[in-house]
Order: sequence, then structure tokens, then C-alpha cells
Amino acid sequence: MNTAVVSHALMQITPRPELVFVRGAGARLVDDAGRSYLDWVQGWAVNSLGHSPAVVVEALAQQAARLINPSPGFYNQPALDLAARLCAHSCFDQVFFTSSGAEANEGAIKLARKWGRVYKGGAHEIITFSNGFHGRTLATMAATGKAGWDRLFAPAMPGFVKARYNDPDSVRALIGPQTVAVMLEPIQGEAGVIAAAPGFLQALRALCDEHGLLLIVDEVQTGCGRTGTLFAHEHDGVRPDIMTLGKGIGGGVPLAALLARESVCCFEYGDQGGTYCGNPLMCAAGLAVMQSLARADFLARVNTLGEQLAMGLRRLSQRFGLGEVRGRGLLLALVLSRDLGAEVVLQARERGLLLNSPRPDLLRFMPALNSTHAEIEEGLELLGGVLQQHF
Ligand SMILES: *Cc1c(COP(=O)(O)O)cnc(C)c1O
Repeated sequence: MNTAVVSHALMQITPRPELVFVRGAGARLVDDAGRSYLDWVQGWAVNSLGHSPAVVVEALAQQAARLINPSPGFYNQPALDLAARLCAHSCFDQVFFTSSGAEANEGAIKLARKWGRVYKGGAHEIITFSNGFHGRTLATMAATGKAGWDRLFAPAMPGFVKARYNDPDSVRALIGPQTVAVMLEPIQGEAGVIAAAPGFLQALRALCDEHGLLLIVDEVQTGCGRTGTLFAHEHDGVRPDIMTLGKGIGGGVPLAALLARESVCCFEYGDQGGTYCGNPLMCAAGLAVMQSLARADFLARVNTLGEQLAMGLRRLSQRFGLGEVRGRGLLLALVLSRDLGAEVVLQARERGLLLNSPRPDLLRFMPALNSTHAEIEEGLELLGGVLQQHF
């Protein structure tokens, strides 16, 4: 296919390879020339159960035939069931569904500001973190801590200040009368898989309790089994006030969620909404994903697979003199000693392995949570072949 001609009608927002993907099954993706790839990107940690998993396909087909969209002004069964399941398996009491992670985070920011208006004398400022990532809407870009993002579409939305990740003192220094919340990723994904240090989330919880602030965790990337627990903040034993989910929750379809504890749920009629919010088609897919994650041993298996992958990556790092392997469960990164990320991604693709390099000097790994041990070995082998050419 001549993608150069075809792609002209699509806005160019990222460099894309001259390939069109036409099929996917589990860990594999197939292009229009019939070539098969082992996919360790999985839509950026979106396809938690791999490509076109039977449970999601079936849930979508059945729901599509039954009811696609009654209107967000009416209840539907999949939304009720998925909300109940999310609350039953977390410390949260209420859910608002959205179509993207950024939209869920927008909702979290609005909820925190509303809570500040109602309960905290109009406090509205949210402390976020350098190198954090929260999405691409104007408010979530302002919350994001990527260098230069505050000037990209100036004027930036006010109301966000940036602390240093894993540095509770830098948070304390920013707390003032206008502060309403602290918002962070339990593992900074786009920053290069930087995990909260042991005790950091607890320290933030204590600070929030001391100053009457809300603790918001953005688990769009880390949630829904990705790090080996249902939600990543469980590793730290803290109870946040608000959590956002996205990516993996839909198993590939546009579904995300804003969850909050009862005491924080202060939206009044008209404050929040959205045409597609909580539509039964997407919620049916989310329900199928959550049911799969709840199966006995599913999360234990994510941990075993994660250990297998981390161990293999450490072996490669040793063999080629590369940097550290970090992350948790099946959200891992390998630090290269040079800025070769883009090149390794390209050459891995030529060998049939799809990889992601969110920073020039590292690779990020996000295989399907239901990968097989053989697939993990296969990917490590392919990666070893590429690294051999460079190191
Ligand atoms: C991907 C991501 C988002 C944005 O989600 P979209 O669905 O792309 O809007 C927000 N926060 C984190 C931590 C993410 O990884």
C-alpha cells in the first residue's frame, strides 16, 4: 500500500513507519504485507489482554447487538456493573466513566477544584511533578511536568505547581493556603518508568492529611494489573482520595474512569458529563477485562512474567554493558548507555519485534498481561540480536 499517498489525509502528529496494520491476535500484530510482529507496545499498555482477546470481542459483539447507546442521561447495565466492580475492588466509592485518560484527569482536576470551593475556602492549586505526564488536553498539559509543555500552547492553564518526584520536602515547600491536592503517577511512565520510592506515597498521604489536601493518583498507565497488583498504589498501602484509570481498563477500546471516595464526591448536577461517558459498549469491554483480571492467579502470573522479563533484561544489560532495569510487573524499562532508543526500535521492528522508546536513552516494555513465557523468551532473544549490533 502506498501509505505516503494515503496518509496525506491524516494530520501528521507523530512519525509513523510505512506500514499499515490489519490484524492482531494476542501478542501478535500483522501488517498488510502479511508480516507478523511480536508486540511489546500493545497500544501503549492499552491492550491488557493482547490483541482482539476473545472475551472482549464477545462482550462487544453481544453488547453491540443489544444496546450501543441509550444516552448518558439514562442508566445502563454494563456501566452499573463495571462501577460496582471497580468500587468493590478498590478503596473508592463512586465512578465517573470517560473515553480517555486525559478526560478522566480533567474530571479529577475539576472534582478537586470543586471540593476546594465547597470545603476549603476556594483553594484550587494542585501540586504535580516534574517529568510527570497526565495527558494532552490544555489542563492536563498544564498538570504535566514535561519540559517546555507550559509554553507549547500558551497561555497555560493556571493552578498547577511542580514538585520534585520522590522528594516530599519539595512538596511541603509548595503547600500554601490555595493548595487543594497533590497529583502523581505511582510510576512515572512517560518519564521513563520511574517508580515512587518506598515511603514516598505514604509521606504524601501524611502531608495531605496534615494539611487537609486530596491525594490524587493517576493510574492511567499503572492501573488494571499492569504492575502486578490491581492498582499500583496498593504496593504502598496508601488510600488515595481520587484515582484515574485509562489505557488497560478497556482492553483496547476508548474507556477511562475517575474514581473517588464518598467524602470527595461533590459534583452537583451539571458540573460534569460527556456524550460518550459510560456508554454500555465500552463498559461491556471494561467489564470483560476486569473479570479476566479477577481470575485466580491472573495477577500472580503477571508478577511471574514480569520477573522473567526483568531477569532477561538484566542479563542483556550485563552482557552489553547497559544501564539499569526498572519498573514493576509488566511495566519495565531498560536504560541504554547511549541515545540509541529510536534506532533500536527501528531495527527491532525489522526483526519482527515492536518496542517503544519514550526517552532517547531507554526502552519501555509493555507486553500483554496474558503473554506466555515462550513469548517473553522470544522477545528477549530478538532484542538481544538487535543490541548485539550496537554494543
Ligand atoms: C496515557 C496517559 C494519560 C493520557 O491518557 P489518554 O487516554 O492518552 O488521554 C494520562 N496519564 C498517564 C499516566 C498516562 O500514561
